[in-house]
Amino acid sequence: MAVSKLSGELKNTPRDTSLVPCSVNGGLNREETLSDHHIVLTDNLGEENQLPVNREKQDLRVPVYVLNIRGQPLMPTTPRRAKLLLKEGKATVKERCPFTIQLTYATGENTQPIKLGVDIGFKNIGFSATTDKLEVISGTVTLRQDVSKKIEERRRYRRTRRARLGYRPPRFNNRKRPEGWLAPSIQHRYDSHIRLVNKLETLLPITYKKIEVANFDAHKIQHPEITGVAYQHGTLQGYEVKEYLLDKWKRKCAYCGKKDIPLQIEHIIPKSRGGTDRVSNLAIACKGCNLKKGNKTAEEFGYPTIQKQANKTLKATACLNNIRWKLVEQLGAEYTYGYVTKYERNKLGLEKSHVNDAFVIAGGTDQERCRPYEVIQVRRNNRAIQKNRKGFKPSIRRQRYQLQPHDLVTYDGKLYKVKGVFNYGKWVRLSDSNGAVVNATIKNVKLLKYGKGLLFTFKNH
Ligand SMILES: [Zn+2]
Repeated sequence: MAVSKLSGELKNTPRDTSLVPCSVNGGLNREETLSDHHIVLTDNLGEENQLPVNREKQDLRVPVYVLNIRGQPLMPTTPRRAKLLLKEGKATVKERCPFTIQLTYATGENTQPIKLGVDIGFKNIGFSATTDKLEVISGTVTLRQDVSKKIEERRRYRRTRRARLGYRPPRFNNRKRPEGWLAPSIQHRYDSHIRLVNKLETLLPITYKKIEVANFDAHKIQHPEITGVAYQHGTLQGYEVKEYLLDKWKRKCAYCGKKDIPLQIEHIIPKSRGGTDRVSNLAIACKGCNLKKGNKTAEEFGYPTIQKQANKTLKATACLNNIRWKLVEQLGAEYTYGYVTKYERNKLGLEKSHVNDAFVIAGGTDQERCRPYEVIQVRRNNRAIQKNRKGFKPSIRRQRYQLQPHDLVTYDGKLYKVKGVFNYGKWVRLSDSNGAVVNATIKNVKLLKYGKGLLFTFKNH
């Protein structure tokens, strides 16, 4: 039965086995067995009273996603209820991570509003969905950083290949980029956001989406130097002005040029000498420079150009913002600004992270949080057809082996991840969750799930 598929991702056996008062704790905590007896589902309902107030990450709730008989998402449930449904044969396992079940009978469809917040980024996407009381899913997607490198590699292979063809009439400058063309690395980012939201919409009946489009509202804060917008510490407008200034001074100290350190707002003409809070009198400085400058003006401090720079208005925003607005349109989402997120996050006392930002964007306040997923994107194939083969002729792959890296399989009653095949696809190399490597003949291995696209996991600790 489908229940037997359960054990893999949903093990919730305690990590520190010594705490379990059991003489056979080794057997109890063995994770990868497929028999029903070993299924331990995450369940916090009964544990509420026993747990200390300060919950560790692994003790956070893990909701189970539910699809109705037609495959449409319903409200998520608790692992305990999911286990019961599966036991009674009222549901089947649809997906293992994130754990999703599909009901085998028709039900009423009471859904509550679910708000999804997406924190767009260059390297990571944060996502979080909330109802009034609970956070129902959250996590971080790690975006691929190697797209342009791969494209360059493909181009190189292609060039070498075609250069060998001898005389060819010149063919260059013969294609046109279509309207709305994006660089492949940007296109990948754009597609990843769409893919993620589409995926989440298959798990949850999302009713409202919100995206952070920029750090500050460039239209609202137009020419703040002229209109006299002033910085007020701790206010919403103060946050917006700070984001504006950070962008304007390129997120580095205006005096020493240091990056990636805490930066402060600094008065070019000190307040004690009649300097105002207006944006044209503000720069960004590190703590050291700010202290050193003390009661001097920027000019006295030895930086006469700073004031001129401060009088200029920030020019148009970077290219990522284009895809941000495109996403808003494509997904039919609402939008918000980074300074609002930051303000709200600080008000809630949450630390800075992609998940927390997304939580705030989704309108999160005091909802009970859930365990965040780590999502990676796995390439299914290597498109560069010719590899450096150390003197041998290029290998051109004409067919694909039935198992590929990252596929989830069972072998000998245990769960494994495929590392690769060898011996012309007759043998397969597997690794278990502890990283131990096993070799097996391919016919003894059973495929559970292809390891392609968005891969949801929980962070190993
Ligand atoms: Zn500095």
